[in-house]
Amino acid sequence: METLLRIAIQKSGRLQEGSLDLLKESGLSFSNGKEQLKTQARNFPVEVLFLRDDDIPQYVEDKVADVGIVGENILLEKQKKNQLIRRLDFAKCRLSIAIPRAENYGGVQSLQGKNIATSYPNIVKNFLSKHNINAGIHEISGSVEIAPGIGLADAICDLVSTGGTLLSNGLKEVEVVMQSEAVIIATPQLAPEKQQILDKLLFRIEAVQKAKNNKYILLNCPNDAIDKITSVIPGMKSPTIIPLARPGWSSLHSVVDENDFWEKIDQLRGFGAEGILVVPIEKMIV
Ligand code: ATP
Ligand code: ZN
Repeated sequence: METLLRIAIQKSGRLQEGSLDLLKESGLSFSNGKEQLKTQARNFPVEVLFLRDDDIPQYVEDKVADVGIVGENILLEKQKKNQLIRRLDFAKCRLSIAIPRAENYGGVQSLQGKNIATSYPNIVKNFLSKHNINAGIHEISGSVEIAPGIGLADAICDLVSTGGTLLSNGLKEVEVVMQSEAVIIATPQLAPEKQQILDKLLFRIEAVQKAKNNKYILLNCPNDAIDKITSVIPGMKSPTIIPLARPGWSSLHSVVDENDFWEKIDQLRGFGAEGILVVPIEKMIV
């Protein structure tokens, strides 16, 4: 029987679409969607299990799944035997402490003796002991942000992305406990055949992620600007340079990092680059 790598992803919620998209962009195709409990890729030895995200670390520890995609917040909270394989650049958020907006905040010491409502008791416990704070932790599984309003707690610790939910509940963010994004986790000891499948998948994921972080850039420049431009956008090995029909000019093709893209564009224009085209890259293998 063919060995399959079993990957657990969230059944429904904020991680689901990003997880499936990542697998699809890595070339895996699935015949049927999310309604089922599990589905096998048509063209890659992977089986996807759809589970609650909170349960995934346990399933991975128990080897019911070999690999899982969860938020780092869940990985840290659950404290299971999981290894962090790779950060995935989506579902970015932070786990923060918030208090009623009208209250003054004078640093972590203000939390002394307070009652904090959270779905992340372990992470909060560690945070408090790191700062030598004694505070009560009130564990609730959802709608944490209403706890202060109904007199259940003095503060909360919950996930934040824009802060809109906090604001509409009369709260303000006062401490960032951790930053989080989706990650791949795995059981500590994968069988060699499974490790091989995972490595193959990770290679593809890397190509997808690199492509997202880079753009292909084409421009025209006077020949005497080629060296300066090459130093700004060296590309993967070196830029491609093709002479233009117009004497003294070249077309230069390279790759540019998404993060400092606009600064580089300004520099290139300063060196005399014209007719700059920037196009997305689908996969990038260095
Ligand atoms: P489940 O029913 O599977 O337990 P859930 O209610 O726990 O779902 P979601 O709200 O779908 O979970 O969030 C799943 C994960 O997405 C979180 O653990 C976190 O890593 C990430 N996440 C949560 N809130 C945000 C946000 N506002 N922006 C981006 N990512 C977020
Ligand atoms: Zn959950």
